[in-house]
Amino acid sequence: MPYIVTENCMDCRFTDCVEVCPVDCFYADAKMLYIHPEECIDCGACEPACPVEAIFSTDDMPDEMEKWEKINADRCEDDDVVNITEQEDALPTAEAKKEALGL
Ligand code: SF4
Ligand code: SF4
Repeated sequence: MPYIVTENCMDCRFTDCVEVCPVDCFYADAKMLYIHPEECIDCGACEPACPVEAIFSTDDMPDEMEKWEKINADRCEDDDVVNITEQEDALPTAEAKKEALGL
């Protein structure tokens, strides 16, 4: 089962995860990133790379994160979401969001 990006990524987009993904399966909109469930090879490299603990394995995630499995799959198919293969600047709101999360 693939990995997914969840709500902590919203307003952060640090994109450290993109740097470590061997198959470039991250997709992005203006607010956050998503993982394509059919492209992810389940390597786990991105999970520890995320500074705001937004990434979970679908095999091992809190119940409240389950809705994000469908959101990742659906959003990767939307026209306003693009494949992202190189690290970008984090959003201006990223440090404040990280602080608010206590991370
Ligand atoms: S490293 Fe974490 S916060 Fe940054 S883009 Fe990836 S999932 Fe989102
Ligand atoms: S688990 Fe591996 S393949 Fe899947 S998104 Fe993370 S780094 Fe990419």
